[in-house]
Amino acid sequence: MTSAPASPQPAPKPWIGAIHAYVPGKSTGADGRPLIKLSANENPLGTSPAALAARAQAAAPSRYPDPDSKALRAAIGELHGIDPALIVMGTGSDELLNLAAQGYAGPGDEVLYVRYGFSVYDIAARRCGAVPVVAPDADYGSDVDALLALVSERTRVVFVANPNNPTGSFLPKGEIARLHAALPSDVVLVVDQAYGEYVAPEDDDGALALAAAHTNVLVTRTFSKIYGLAGERTGWATGHAGLIDTLNRIRGPFNVSNTGQAMALAALDDQAFVERSRLHNAAERARFVAALKAMGNHGLRPLPSQANFVLILFEGALTAEAAFNGLAERGTITRWLPNQGLPHGLRITIGTAEQMDAIARGLREMAEAAAKAPAQ
Ligand code: PMP
Repeated sequence: MTSAPASPQPAPKPWIGAIHAYVPGKSTGADGRPLIKLSANENPLGTSPAALAARAQAAAPSRYPDPDSKALRAAIGELHGIDPALIVMGTGSDELLNLAAQGYAGPGDEVLYVRYGFSVYDIAARRCGAVPVVAPDADYGSDVDALLALVSERTRVVFVANPNNPTGSFLPKGEIARLHAALPSDVVLVVDQAYGEYVAPEDDDGALALAAAHTNVLVTRTFSKIYGLAGERTGWATGHAGLIDTLNRIRGPFNVSNTGQAMALAALDDQAFVERSRLHNAAERARFVAALKAMGNHGLRPLPSQANFVLILFEGALTAEAAFNGLAERGTITRWLPNQGLPHGLRITIGTAEQMDAIARGLREMAEAAAKAPAQ
């Protein structure tokens, strides 16, 4: 029997095959058992009760949402002192990061970010056929000089998460300003402030002011983190009118759902919840890092963090993989990061006080046991 000649198959664009799909934080163990989830940087205090109440008041699900999220943009504008015309909403800030790359870069162009930057930047660059260019870090932090050294005439977009995920590192105002000042004016600087609300107000990185004053700075924010609305997929960006016009042309027409708009609007109005979340995070993060330091020298190095998580580097007998598995056995899922070039790194979201106590206790037990075990 002769086989029929193969019919041509749809072929994705060549650059699509090089994309490693985003790996989300897990919520179950290897055996499918639900675990305490400290793997996705969600708010351990949940969601503002006012936002939960607003969910019931959202427009009927049979109706399309307001395509322009007008009321929500007006409220964001009022809170942050921004003209609502200079705000664009996204299906999470993730959509806006992708649109920034797609709007300004394509095949042959370069998209620049630092090593250990947020994993979506690689996907955003490759999705539009651009070449991702990765600058070396400075002890796991963002390095402005290393970024600037790699700017070429093909660079179209630079991504900086501030604070950065997964390292928690933070570039102060002077460094963000220095990066912007040295970039060519036709390069878009995207400052991703997904964790911006966790930074103490006096440490503000100045990116919103830069976005208001220049034509090439886009700041992205999200309701997923401190506002506790990760499931509602609502983010926003602000920048010069030209940037916002580009993103509005290519975004999904009804990209924020009825419940997303209604809940985000109510959440914005409950700044007491935001402040409670920020203070809880700052206190528990400090207590957790102090507990790790009090363990003695077991080679666990928590990196300084301005976000709602801590990246611990395992440089002693206990490995990050063993710690990840041991914590899962004890009931908590964290984020081990071999896929991001950090096989020695475990990122732990700041949870409740009890959860952080249990993690510190588990890590101490495992580190002490590993130190006593005979060397392999
Ligand atoms: N930026 C950074 C640095 C993040 O860590 C995340 C979420 N993991 C996002 C953007 C995207 O969040 P969302 O799409 O939920 O707004």
